[in-house]
Amino acid sequence: MSTERRTLDAHMPGDYRPTAVMPDVKVVKIGGQSILDRGRAALFPILDEIVQARKLGIQVVLLAGGGTRARHIYSIASELEMPTGVVATLGKYIPMQNARMLQMLLAKHGGIYMLPDDFEKLPLYLQMGCIPVMSGMPPFGYWEKREEGSRIPPHRTDAGVFLSAEFLGSPRAIFIKDEDGLYTDDPKKNPDAKHIARITAKELQAQNLPDVVLERVVIEYLPRAQWCKELQIVNGLKPGQVLAALKGEDVGTIISA
Ligand code: ADP
Ligand code: MG
Repeated sequence: MSTERRTLDAHMPGDYRPTAVMPDVKVVKIGGQSILDRGRAALFPILDEIVQARKLGIQVVLLAGGGTRARHIYSIASELEMPTGVVATLGKYIPMQNARMLQMLLAKHGGIYMLPDDFEKLPLYLQMGCIPVMSGMPPFGYWEKREEGSRIPPHRTDAGVFLSAEFLGSPRAIFIKDEDGLYTDDPKKNPDAKHIARITAKELQAQNLPDVVLERVVIEYLPRAQWCKELQIVNGLKPGQVLAALKGEDVGTIISA
């Protein structure tokens, strides 16, 4: 008697065509160092615009970055020769703290804290008018992969935002930071850096810029995306930019697949 043996591929014939789980949701990162570390002067006006968007019926899920406290633990853990999986595990607590603070600030407007495992509760939260808030850190933890020449986890909160948007089937991930988007170099260090309004991931990789505004893995993954084919970087320090982005306007920089 022979038992039928199925290969993994037999379960997935033909093309890979995943379901767009919640394609209307705007997956939005609040920058750690670029926004949250600047405190209320930077953050409160952004939260006002997010609440305004929510009142307009726009569905928003917020993901928090880590910032300076995350960089601190990365540097101590690296100096102590911790493996990347440990560094990633330690680093996850900081964006979680930031997400908890964001939730408290938004509580009176329906801010609700969620874990990555709570994605299945999103329809309920959003239908009730809530603003779900979670850590941007993808939950790889001890299973995080190592990158050549570094102990720092390559998948940090920018990657978590992109991967969440891709899972949810959202076509554009939004990153709120403190610059007008992508430049030819870090505008904080190079005053001659030029703004780039639109670029593809391939063009961006070909440019070999000295530094970029997002974690490099995100640019590397974008061309393979099934759903999230655009990354938008907006300046949260400029009034109106966040609301414009949430309404779908092409402000800041758009990096496309
Ligand atoms: P986050 O707060 O989301 O973690 P980061 O501070 O890691 O954001 O990244 C945003 C910063 O990246 C900007 O404040 C800017 O100084 C820097 N940066 C580096 N290279 C670039 C570039 N090519 N274009 C724009 N910003 C850049
Ligand atoms: Mg960062």
